[in-house]
Amino acid sequence: MPAVPVLVVGAGPVGLTAALLLARRGVEVLVVERHADPYPLPRAVHLDDEAFRVLQAAGVADDVAAITGPMAGLRLLDRRLRPLVEFLRAPDDQPNGWPRGSLFHQPELEAVLRRAASAQPGLRLVTGEELTALTQDDGGVDVVLRRRADGAERSVRAGYVLGCDGANSTTRRLIGSSMRDLAPPDRWLVVDARAGFSAPVWPGVHQVSDPHRAVTFMPVTDGRYRWEFRLRPGESAGDLAAPGRLRELVAPFGVTRIEVLRAVEYVFRAQLADRWRRRRVLLAGDAAHLTPPFVGQALGLGLRDVHQLAWKLTAVLAGRAGEEILDTYQAERAPHARALIRVALLLGRLMTGGGRLAAVVRPGVVQVVRRVPAVRALGASSRTPPLRRSPLVERRGRPGRRLAGSLIPQPWVLLAGRRCRLDHVLGDGPARVELLPDGRLLVVAAGRPVEVTDPDGVVAGWLRAAGARAVEVRPDRIVGAAFR
Ligand SMILES: Cc1cc2nc3c(=O)[nH]c(=O)nc-3n(C[C@H](O)[C@H](O)[C@H](O)COP(=O)(O)OP(=O)(O)OC[C@H]3O[C@@H](n4cnc5c(N)ncnc54)[C@H](O)[C@@H]3O)c2cc1C
Repeated sequence: MPAVPVLVVGAGPVGLTAALLLARRGVEVLVVERHADPYPLPRAVHLDDEAFRVLQAAGVADDVAAITGPMAGLRLLDRRLRPLVEFLRAPDDQPNGWPRGSLFHQPELEAVLRRAASAQPGLRLVTGEELTALTQDDGGVDVVLRRRADGAERSVRAGYVLGCDGANSTTRRLIGSSMRDLAPPDRWLVVDARAGFSAPVWPGVHQVSDPHRAVTFMPVTDGRYRWEFRLRPGESAGDLAAPGRLRELVAPFGVTRIEVLRAVEYVFRAQLADRWRRRRVLLAGDAAHLTPPFVGQALGLGLRDVHQLAWKLTAVLAGRAGEEILDTYQAERAPHARALIRVALLLGRLMTGGGRLAAVVRPGVVQVVRRVPAVRALGASSRTPPLRRSPLVERRGRPGRRLAGSLIPQPWVLLAGRRCRLDHVLGDGPARVELLPDGRLLVVAAGRPVEVTDPDGVVAGWLRAAGARAVEVRPDRIVGAAFR
């Protein structure tokens, strides 16, 4: 009998979210983290509204909302910082119940997750120990953990292991999985700073398409700003980060003073692991995929991974599903991750690629490409592609083709006169949502039917547009099937 049903390797944002999602479903979890303290410097800075729902399911959305700021959209600028095109995100357009894009400081997000983890029954976090080896049999996984302070080793037996141990994942290596490149690596200088400006800064992402030097700039939160400068061949991060040179680079943005928090080379990679699972060991987050940041999906992809892993693993551990359900994990998640990485690569090339000629034709090309549905959807609406057909996504029939594989919207609804978000009514398990003739919704969750009022008719409009009357919603809020 395994000592712990699930062992999570890595207490980054993906590992901690996985642990919270599992523990809130009553699964006992041990999280093992190599470092004693959370990584103190900024890293990822953007999260979309779909991924925000995962944090909601993990019970931390309100605390995360308190440390994030809404992102106003994306502006593509020419080398003189004049706008070429703008994708705006209206602040009150929130089909998932949260701003379409949120900016945050990763150490603050991790602090929220750590606080929640320490208060969560059934979840134990051990720091200063790292996974070094594992072996598995039909009943579980034997994991070797090494204490970093003195090298002492101990062995733990777990039912399942989730490798959420980041880009250089040990778990990935131990299950014989390898990263496959979708594009060559791209070197950037990433600068996080506190700064003062001569004029107010627009609260969105500024992408400068200068053929000599692509730059991304955005205000983050609490007086922090992020610049990313593409490095040219032969150029080092140190060359650009030298104080005089850096001041020259940020001056066009109206900077009057700057205090650098982090200025390091960061290599943007586009990679997918070829194998996300070996029997009882699964990969999630940066351990399974890496993406260039042009659509801000690095962390969002990982949160989506663990949202579906949590319910699938819980079902297996509770005996409600056979282990074969875990085969659907990579089958569903890898194509979705690949699609978003490809959009990031396409947008990255479009916005920052090429030489002088590209700079000349870019304004015209941008106007054409912004009409490509996937680009327009991500640029303006943040909606990501639906999951493909799978044993758990029934895309047959018109309503199925339109809705299955995508998220049900999350409006505020009235339940017995009380206002709450729809996910609160859906609960942690599968649910069925049906449109009643009087316009109210019948939700059957955990076998219990309740009627709710959707005052703005968001779900009714969404169902009617697809010619559907009812949907089966999976615990990760993805529509499994839609019916007339
Ligand atoms: C140095 C760095 C800079 C980054 N900069 C950016 C950026 O500028 N922009 C951006 O969009 N994204 C950036 N990222 C990526 C972004 O931070 C991740 O997408 C995000 O953190 C989601 O990660 P995760 O939880 O999957 O992995 P991580 O946040 O990397 O967490 C993995 C955790 O696993 C732990 N771990 C690793 N190996 C073991 C082991 N054997 N045993 C136990 N614990 C282990 C690590 O210490 C770490 O805490 C950066 C990542 C890194 C590492």
